[in-house]
Amino acid sequence: IHPVYAEMERTVFDLMSGLAREHGAINLGQGFPDAPGPEPVLEAAARALREKSNQYPPGAGLPELREAVCAYYARRQNLAIAPEQVTVTSGATEAIACAVLALVQPGDEVILFQPAYDAYAPMVRRAGGVPVSVMLAPPHFAYGEEALRRAITPRTRVLMLNDPLNPAGTVASEAQLAMIARLCTAHDLTAICDEVWEDVRFDGTPHRSLTTFEGMAARAVKIGSAGKIFGITGWKIGWMIAQGELATAVSRAHQFITYASAPPLQWAVAEGLTMPDAMLADQRATWAASRARLKAGLEAAGFAVLPNAATWFLCADLAASGIALTDREFSERAVTEAGVATVPVSALYEGEGRPEHIVRFCFTKPDAVLDEAVARLGKWW
Ligand code: GLN
Repeated sequence: IHPVYAEMERTVFDLMSGLAREHGAINLGQGFPDAPGPEPVLEAAARALREKSNQYPPGAGLPELREAVCAYYARRQNLAIAPEQVTVTSGATEAIACAVLALVQPGDEVILFQPAYDAYAPMVRRAGGVPVSVMLAPPHFAYGEEALRRAITPRTRVLMLNDPLNPAGTVASEAQLAMIARLCTAHDLTAICDEVWEDVRFDGTPHRSLTTFEGMAARAVKIGSAGKIFGITGWKIGWMIAQGELATAVSRAHQFITYASAPPLQWAVAEGLTMPDAMLADQRATWAASRARLKAGLEAAGFAVLPNAATWFLCADLAASGIALTDREFSERAVTEAGVATVPVSALYEGEGRPEHIVRFCFTKPDAVLDEAVARLGKWW
């Protein structure tokens, strides 16, 4: 057994969802909406299952989906992407794995901003790379030039950026993105841009990708997710976009991981991406209302809620809320004693000086579920 897996813990998301099932708790831990997803997209999948092929699609993805991804980015982010640059993957997590496997060689250092999706560091290690943490601090999780400069060495090859940032729910400023781009080009780094939350923003600002900054398009892999865009996390349809030999390399990695993803779901996502923006706007409005409701509820119950501009998550500062528990203690006790599952943010932080007083709540749930969760938490502590 490879030491990376021998020493690996069960991911906090699966752990908390398991505990939620075991204790019959409300699950505000792992991020997913309770709603089934937009009806027209579900309808398209049902139709595709009967009327289209259920056999292997082209490995890089159905041409219709690769084209739809390009049209979607042209419309929403004003990006000019060619279908040949797009590889469809079984979720963004597979895309991240492909990018890491294609880019990281033994001994390469990889910059990981912390907090980070807990998949990043183990994937880098399994590829023989060395994760180098750059800590971001609550409440703003701002990217600082000095800290990033200090982390870069002659062995640094890759930088991974998740913007908007899960679990924080924050968005990098243009100045911060420009700074990161400058350092990537100056040090010849390749960026893995995990932008799965690009269309789950509540600040009214269109997403601006790191790949749009000078010199970045040719040295970046941009990763997106239908699960996040449409709120259908179990479909596991994502994609990665790159140029030239970088696009070829990540696509080669994909061909020997999953080779291809379920064609009816690819057809449906292709249709969904070309549907009127009003469908996405309606869904975002629903999520925004849920976000406001949970924020108000948590604040009324005495929680200090951190600023949030994106994602399905709100974070609370336990220390500032007067709760003398670590986030892990809080999450373990809340799921068993109060019947509410959350995510301790320290589980998504590697490195010196990680905070242990931030807890994440997923808000994409019906009003009654959010109200009940708040009532349980309020009664409990
Ligand atoms: N990104 C999801 C979250 O933050 C979890 C992804 C997963 O569990 N595979 O909750």
